[in-house]
Amino acid sequence: MKAENRYVTFKADAEPKYLKEVSDYDTALSLFEDEYRNIAAAVRDAALRGFDSHTWQLTCAMLPYFSRINQWGEAEDLYKTALASVRRLGIDYGESVCLMGLATVKRARGAVSEARELISGAIAISRARGDLLAEANQLTNLGVILLDANNFTESRDCFLTALALAAQVGDLKFQATLNNNLGVISRELGRLTEAIEYFNRAIEIGCTDDKSSNRSPNRVCNIAEVLNLQGRTNSARERYLEALELSTRNRSPRSRALALAGLCAVYRASNNLSQALDAGREAVDLARSVDWFQLEGDALNAIGDTHVSLGDLESAEQSYARVESLGLLYSSQRYVARAHEGFAHVALARHDIAKAKDHWRKALAVYPGGVVDAAAASRHLEADDPRSERCWRCKFA
Ligand SMILES: [Zn+2]
Repeated sequence: MKAENRYVTFKADAEPKYLKEVSDYDTALSLFEDEYRNIAAAVRDAALRGFDSHTWQLTCAMLPYFSRINQWGEAEDLYKTALASVRRLGIDYGESVCLMGLATVKRARGAVSEARELISGAIAISRARGDLLAEANQLTNLGVILLDANNFTESRDCFLTALALAAQVGDLKFQATLNNNLGVISRELGRLTEAIEYFNRAIEIGCTDDKSSNRSPNRVCNIAEVLNLQGRTNSARERYLEALELSTRNRSPRSRALALAGLCAVYRASNNLSQALDAGREAVDLARSVDWFQLEGDALNAIGDTHVSLGDLESAEQSYARVESLGLLYSSQRYVARAHEGFAHVALARHDIAKAKDHWRKALAVYPGGVVDAAAASRHLEADDPRSERCWRCKFA
């Protein structure tokens, strides 16, 4: 489950005279790869010679590239140079774009509170200029950062304000994105019916031409995940299979990984355990190949749960241990908590109730406040006999 981000569309003063035609995204990126060193050198040279206008615009034009290659160390220097240039020129629109770029860099490098401050500065400029679309974009970025920090109330406020602005300018695609993000928050808080309403609205608004091939596989996966949480396994499986087909059509490894991790969970829930393991393993490999640790963790958890269903407790423990290492490596309490829940179920299968309770307590201690996932651990703990309680992870085991 993932909220979607929006990047400020940046328009340079001049259009390039020569444009190379490219057929797809990957080719465009590889061209950028070839030219990157030259462009970075050109930015530095422009800064040295006092060509402030070139400095900030060239830097901002590279943001999509930076966000794909994760070369943030150099990007931070370039953005600081760009910000100084644009401030000398006194172009407030450009300053707002540069502040957003620097915020993206800071966030990618883990400096979240600095990123928040920079975005707030960018929002203030857009608001003063009456640029509704830029303000909505920037609010969305801020909302995603707050959501990552499990600050659901403030994140929701950002998305709702951005939604009102997007409606005011009549941007339907943007409204779809925001409905999706509001659905993610509802799901986190356990308001599952509301979550499905938002996700359905996102899909409806997102494909106004009514072509089912234009549906976003990731949004279909979001619906499927909630259906699975509601115990509607068959409907969830149908949705995940639809997302899998859409991801093949879109040639998107990330969407394929997302659909496969979900399929692992629903196949396990319907007792197709070998199919579950196949789907889960492919999801783990794909998630790793695109550096998506959260999805790798989700798939490993689903694989672990499948091993528990098969009675292979040692393999289950190994899967959960990998989830725990991911959580520690990326400082994500959520994955540490999910690993503890997994260990608790293994201990329960071994009839070691004291150990199981210990793991559920550890899970509860680290789960971010308010998320619905924590409810499963507390129900197990509150039951007189934890074996009498079935959470969504052990319901079908
Ligand atoms: Zn359980």
